[in-house]
Amino acid sequence: MTAPADLLDRLRDGELRLYELEDHVDAETAAEIRRRFVEDETGTALEVVGSYTFDAADAEANIENMVGAVQVPVGVAGPVTVDGSAANGEFYLPLATTEGALVASVNRGLSAIENSGGATARVTDSGMTRAPVFRVAGVAEAETVVEWVDGNIDRLRETAESTTSHGELLGVDPYVVGDNVFLRFVYDTKDAMGMNMATIATRQAADVVERETPAELVALSGNLCTDKKPAAINAVEGRGRTVTADVVLDRDLVGETLNTTPEAMVEGNTRKNLVGSAKAASLGFNAHAANTVAAMYLATGQDEAQVVEGANAITTMDAREDGLYASVSLASLEVGTVGGGTKLPTQSEGLDVLGLRGGGDPAGSNADALAEVIAVGVLAGELSLVAAFCSRHLSSAHEELGR
Ligand code: NAP
Repeated sequence: MTAPADLLDRLRDGELRLYELEDHVDAETAAEIRRRFVEDETGTALEVVGSYTFDAADAEANIENMVGAVQVPVGVAGPVTVDGSAANGEFYLPLATTEGALVASVNRGLSAIENSGGATARVTDSGMTRAPVFRVAGVAEAETVVEWVDGNIDRLRETAESTTSHGELLGVDPYVVGDNVFLRFVYDTKDAMGMNMATIATRQAADVVERETPAELVALSGNLCTDKKPAAINAVEGRGRTVTADVVLDRDLVGETLNTTPEAMVEGNTRKNLVGSAKAASLGFNAHAANTVAAMYLATGQDEAQVVEGANAITTMDAREDGLYASVSLASLEVGTVGGGTKLPTQSEGLDVLGLRGGGDPAGSNADALAEVIAVGVLAGELSLVAAFCSRHLSSAHEELGR
């Protein structure tokens, strides 16, 4: 094995590239040498970044050119009782954030929900998508391709599913734009978020489409999927888990816990979350769904860039005789309990707090349950923030807790 000092010298001399270190030393040593190199080059100290508790080797599939780890504080909110299709029982929610007052806000909302008997949640649709774009001569050829795809779904399914022991092809939705054909493949990816799984399966299926039709593949992702970009197609068709959570809060409780009334909450929600969002042509009609989604994504190892579509939520409120009905509907919550960042040690512990680490029985039930619990967390955050501005406590809460 080459001595680390030699490797550092070779990096400085430009003989070795940063990403080549693992060819000579283990992942831990490679990270340390890179850290020393970056410290020298930039005149900084990376003492804290270099002080982490997991093995660098455990993160090899998740990061390149590793120098250490950024630590985000994790708090817990709850417990809350969830009556879901997959999530059933009492949950503590792990939330990783740097925004003071967020965990307190979700906790307050969860407490109101719990005191009203808990929340109901359901995954109403599920499907991870990949939409390659093909070049054709024109609309007549596009028609030929679409007809072939419609008549050969079983063959495409067999090809796609040959790449995975868990994924199932649910369907292929074609879209034609001039001389472009987009095929939006939809998969049941069980407990995996499924983006790698869907991409690998679609690659195989796209080969068959190219062989059997005049279509030529231009890009395996034609952006109609749509991954990590704000897009109406996800809001309408869904992507990942489509999930709704709701609750009826007792009228007295709205006064005691949230310091306001159901009628004031409904007005606040309508004017801000519905009218304001409509006027802004927002893709989400909510107060701050992204806050809870992002914090739970970080704590449980989800792909944080997918907060873009994960936060696409509509919040509704209705004043009823017995109290306040409130709901959140998240159109495209892409979550998993296996694969990706979920297997990193601290993120696995986050899933452990929820009792949802790894594959579920039946397969898919753990990811469904995670989606339902996140939706309840979002509902709590919405209740708390809407109540805060209805009772005009928002700025004082931030002053006390966030600064
Ligand atoms: P993955 O870590 O690539 O794969 C997870 C694998 O776990 C599945 O393919 C499956 O293997 C296996 N598995 C074991 N038990 C399972 C169960 N109960 N349910 C489902 N699968 C089970 O994860 P992924 O979810 O497909 O992809 C997530 C990763 O993709 C993240 O790291 C994310 O950052 C990244 N990503 C990729 C793209 C892309 O375009 N490729 C885009 C965005 C994000 P089998 O398939 O063999 O059954």
